[in-house]
Amino acid sequence: MTVTADEDLGSLIEGVVALPEDPDYLRCSPWNTAVEVAPRMVVFPRSASDVAATVRHAGAVGATVAVAATGHGALPVGPESILVHTGDMTDVAVDVLGRTARVGAGASWQHVLDAATPHGLAPLCGSAPSVGVVGFLTGGGIGPLVRTFGLSSDHVRSFEVVTGTGEILQVSPERHGDLFWGLRGGKATLGIVTAVEIDLPELPEFYGGAIYFDGDYAENVLRAWSQWCPGLPESVSTSVALLQAPDAPEAPPALAGRFVIAVRFAAVGDRGEALDLLTPIRAVAPALLDAVEVLPYAAIGAVHADPPHPMPVYEDHALLSGLPEEAVCELLRLAGPRAGSLQALVEVRQLGGAYARWPRQRSAFCHRDAAFAVTTIGIPVPELAEQVRGHAAAVLQALGPWSTGRQLPNFAPASDPSRLARCYDDDTLYQLAALAERYDPDGVLRAGQVARYVF
Ligand SMILES: Cc1cc2nc3c(=O)[nH]c(=O)nc-3n(C[C@H](O)[C@H](O)[C@H](O)COP(=O)(O)OP(=O)(O)OC[C@H]3O[C@@H](n4cnc5c(N)ncnc54)[C@H](O)[C@@H]3O)c2cc1C
Repeated sequence: MTVTADEDLGSLIEGVVALPEDPDYLRCSPWNTAVEVAPRMVVFPRSASDVAATVRHAGAVGATVAVAATGHGALPVGPESILVHTGDMTDVAVDVLGRTARVGAGASWQHVLDAATPHGLAPLCGSAPSVGVVGFLTGGGIGPLVRTFGLSSDHVRSFEVVTGTGEILQVSPERHGDLFWGLRGGKATLGIVTAVEIDLPELPEFYGGAIYFDGDYAENVLRAWSQWCPGLPESVSTSVALLQAPDAPEAPPALAGRFVIAVRFAAVGDRGEALDLLTPIRAVAPALLDAVEVLPYAAIGAVHADPPHPMPVYEDHALLSGLPEEAVCELLRLAGPRAGSLQALVEVRQLGGAYARWPRQRSAFCHRDAAFAVTTIGIPVPELAEQVRGHAAAVLQALGPWSTGRQLPNFAPASDPSRLARCYDDDTLYQLAALAERYDPDGVLRAGQVARYVF
């Protein structure tokens, strides 16, 4: 059964339907508060059936459907779209013996950490536990241990998904294998995921955290890091961040209000070996704060210490094939302590290791050959927004000679087809677009970060 008035959808579903005048409507406000999210209606489903009814309703009234959980990767949503907000679907069920979890579409990684880590199991989350599991996994997902465990979406077992025709499908390598391929990398192009089943490696603790140095040492530290990391084994993942620490009570007193450079480090396996590997970095300069230690896996968020609370951000991103001396100089010239950088953070993550290996079950995630991922994060307060964007573009342009011209689907989200095309190689983009024709023939889901082939 379908209804043709938005208000009547509430009678068909268990979840909440909120029109702009309803108090619940405000719950769709995204983590990235710089993005305007103002759909014609927000639906907070409780089940896959609710999502299916919403998609069918949208088709009947000629609306598109966008999907969001936490809003960490928010894109603008306007009155042409209904927003499915999965915030009321946060169930997590851990199978301790099977080392898996079934996770509802609205759960954040923190929900899964809370459920799994008491059993010594390690959900392969990203840098910030507040990020949504499904949004992260449908973009591949690179976490603080990416070089050891590889891409997080390589550890997905199955999905439950609602297609653009409102059909509910159980998707695994054996069932709807084309969707299993495309949902891992294709974001919401092929459907709205309502639950995902993931593997949970056994890892009660790790040796990791971050070492923070004063900006005066940025040149020495960045140079040392760039020469040190190519020799690291797969048991170690690392990134470096040029960071303007906020002068705020939540910042550690040693860092508050300073320009710092942070070396993030996360190692599994022999602790002595990990300690030895980190020695050259500890020897570069005196640390303002050395917070690398043995940590329970539940504290994995401490490696990057990303801000958990909503804030306005402008993100830009590129993949690099290498980080030679000239690239280090360019990075320091535009984002170093004396550059007058307009970014709150510029980070470079080392890839390679298990990230570079194709899993047995191939996916639509591309660009495993990239050596580094660079991301800029600026705070686009209205009076500076234009300059922040321009400066981010200048940083990435300066790194142009080492850029692969590609990007990861999870960073710097965009709906612009030419930007989206950078997330995929040509064959993958074509295949995703062809599958979208099949699973969403009327284009109901064509809102936001949806892969399209531009001829
Ligand atoms: C502070 C911060 C730290 C981050 N760290 C990392 C990191 O370490 N590694 C990494 O890989 N990424 C990282 N990201 C990027 C993050 O993974 C993406 O922005 C991701 O899309 C966020 O998902 P969400 O559900 O939290 O956000 P939302 O804005 O709610 O969703 C973003 C997009 O995910 C897709 N999506 C969400 N829910 C569904 C669904 N049910 N079905 C289908 N598609 C869906 C849609 O395309 C949606 O537009 C980070 C982002 C931030 C802001």
